[in-house]
Amino acid sequence: MDEFELIRRFFAAASCAQAGGEVALGIGDDCALLTLPAGEQLAVSTDTLVAGVHFPDPCDPSLLAQRALGVTASDLAAMGATPIGFTLALTLPQAGADWLAAFAEGINQAAERHGLRLIGGDTTRGPLSLTLTVFGRVPAGAALRRSGARPGDLLCVGGSLGDAAAALPLVLGQQQLPAELAELLLASYWQPQPQLALGQALRGLASAALDISDGLLADAGHIAASSGVVLCIELARVPLSPDLQQLPREQALRGALSGGDDYRLLFTLPPEHLADLQAQWPELAVLGRVEAGCAEVRLLAEDGRELPQPPGGYQHFGQDRD
Ligand code: ADP
Ligand code: MG
Repeated sequence: MDEFELIRRFFAAASCAQAGGEVALGIGDDCALLTLPAGEQLAVSTDTLVAGVHFPDPCDPSLLAQRALGVTASDLAAMGATPIGFTLALTLPQAGADWLAAFAEGINQAAERHGLRLIGGDTTRGPLSLTLTVFGRVPAGAALRRSGARPGDLLCVGGSLGDAAAALPLVLGQQQLPAELAELLLASYWQPQPQLALGQALRGLASAALDISDGLLADAGHIAASSGVVLCIELARVPLSPDLQQLPREQALRGALSGGDDYRLLFTLPPEHLADLQAQWPELAVLGRVEAGCAEVRLLAEDGRELPQPPGGYQHFGQDRD
């Protein structure tokens, strides 16, 4: 199978690869052509996933595809952008038809779920790696940025944290859990659900936002730095899923605070918008608040005491809480 047959058979023929909407021209020419509605800006983000670094090799090709696209689409959610399409640069050690069919099926499934059309890419031979670039649109000036958090805003998260981090030892084959629990945790790792609708709903309401890819504390640090504020996080308010609560509390909390891969939106919100948003997004949680001061994240106990942050000091505050 040559490169062109591979592209035609597995990618150009997929239902997600057909032109339409803002995609005036998709796969098959030297460039794709996108038409943006008047007054909108193009939001662009790219992610590379390398075998053995960002995912175990071998792994299920359909799940790999779903994870790659979910992770990349999450950046559109974080900016409040409406998805348009994506390109897929694929480097493969060999062109195995079974592998490609499963991979393309996963790409198609995730693309349809997230409202993204496959508009082009590149196919090369080499150690397995994927580079996906996503394109979205957002009304000019309305994108959610990291830099707008103001003292007095609430710090909020779009849902529970820590499931994907708890899945990592399972993904790496370092731990076993009861099948039902393992399945739920693994789904959050392999099939991340970018909060695209929430991101769009936050336009004009949230003062700053990003998606949590490196862990709550690390990513909160990015908002604090870009906005020049202090973010106070109350440990007792960090939401853990019912699945995660079946694990030892310390492990669950460590994953929620410092583990990555959750792909929830973390955002700051003037308090007057909270009630309306929570009515529509009941899983949304308030973690704390924005205060004036030098770019910093503080972790607080229920009594307001500042807690040391993991990894170094984690055990101590874990014991304090119990
Ligand atoms: P060029 O040599 O002009 O860069 P290619 O021969 O690499 O073009 O690709 C031919 C067409 O197939 C282009 O439209 C390109 O975007 C598309 N394409 C190549 N690889 C992929 C892929 N893995 N997924 C989707 N589209 C692809
Ligand atoms: Mg090429």
